[in-house]
Amino acid sequence: MLQTSYEAKTKDVWVFIETKDGKARNVGLELLNPGRRLAGIQGGKAVALVIGHNCEDAVKEAIAHGADKVLLVDNEVYGHYSTDAYTAAIVHCVEADCPTTILMGASPLGRDLGPRVAGRLKTGLTADCTSLDIDEATGKVAWTRPAFGGNLMATILCPFTFPQIGTCRPGVNKKLEADYSRTAEVEKVDFVFPADKIRIKLIETIAEEGEKVDLEGAEIIVSGGRGLGGPEGFETTIKPLADALGGVVGSSRAAVDAGWIPHSHQVGQTGKTVGPKLYVACGISGAIQHLAGMGSSDFIVCINKDPEAPIFGVADLGVIGNLYDVCPALTKLILAD
Ligand code: FAD
Repeated sequence: MLQTSYEAKTKDVWVFIETKDGKARNVGLELLNPGRRLAGIQGGKAVALVIGHNCEDAVKEAIAHGADKVLLVDNEVYGHYSTDAYTAAIVHCVEADCPTTILMGASPLGRDLGPRVAGRLKTGLTADCTSLDIDEATGKVAWTRPAFGGNLMATILCPFTFPQIGTCRPGVNKKLEADYSRTAEVEKVDFVFPADKIRIKLIETIAEEGEKVDLEGAEIIVSGGRGLGGPEGFETTIKPLADALGGVVGSSRAAVDAGWIPHSHQVGQTGKTVGPKLYVACGISGAIQHLAGMGSSDFIVCINKDPEAPIFGVADLGVIGNLYDVCPALTKLILAD
């Protein structure tokens, strides 16, 4: 019987670990970092919720990246993602042992699953968060996300309902360093959703054609913007610098909208959220929507001919100059090294 309101039975924070072919995807492992922090403040555990089939590797990864405990729902019915089966599995777990908080990635899967779970549990959902904290006055999670087209950051509290649920963008949280010597309890959940009740069937998987860009996993990104003046700048100037540094090519939305580079390269609010060790912004002004996607990079370098460009406000190192002079000189220097 579905309740209309839940009491948190533990102080635990659950982190949904997305799996693919039995392996954990980065977004869930990243969330174990804030999950541990929030659980620690509340006096609970960071629990990895692993759903899939043949998930031994995902369980190991989750424990190595900080899970204090694993709830494992493993059956062939969960081998491919389905909203029906995954929602029912999570609702089943919550009904048994409601945590204070559930964190999910704001990936295509999490954006589908999170609202469905929240709807079933009659609780709220804060989508697309970029940072998480605890509100001192209420002890509840303070979820921060961009609002009004990214022009302000809103901090949202869910004071009345449990579990508090939110999705967080991939790339904004750093994974904890993996420690494969860690051990943790693994609780197997015996819940099998009837396969014939899955309303959407996976018929075929067709791989996207063309170049694949792993911006979210990249450690070095060199991005180009409208300052390139045309598509050829990506080939002649941005890519050689990215290659010399061992990185990948990103872009601003202006360059994508102009048709100079595919959307898969776009960084920002309506593109990818990235957190590389080094982000080099070339001919990019630093609009708030771009910063929303790369502001958590460890070290930011910008090359821009306008010293007033806002990108200098977030850069650790700024070069005032023409990117067509600076980038090739930099590339030459790196290759000569
Ligand atoms: P510009 O703002 O035009 O800046 C170009 C810069 O290049 C200037 O600073 C100029 O001084 C410099 N420049 C010019 N020539 C040279 C040269 N030869 N050498 C060196 N510097 C030079 N934007 C994103 O990037 N990502 C998003 O996901 C995104 N989502 C959005 C969502 C919404 C709802 C909205 C409203 C906007 C969004 N935008 C996004 C757009 C954003 O507001 C900016 O318009 C965009 O980021 C500007 O791109 P840019 O910096 O390349 O271009």
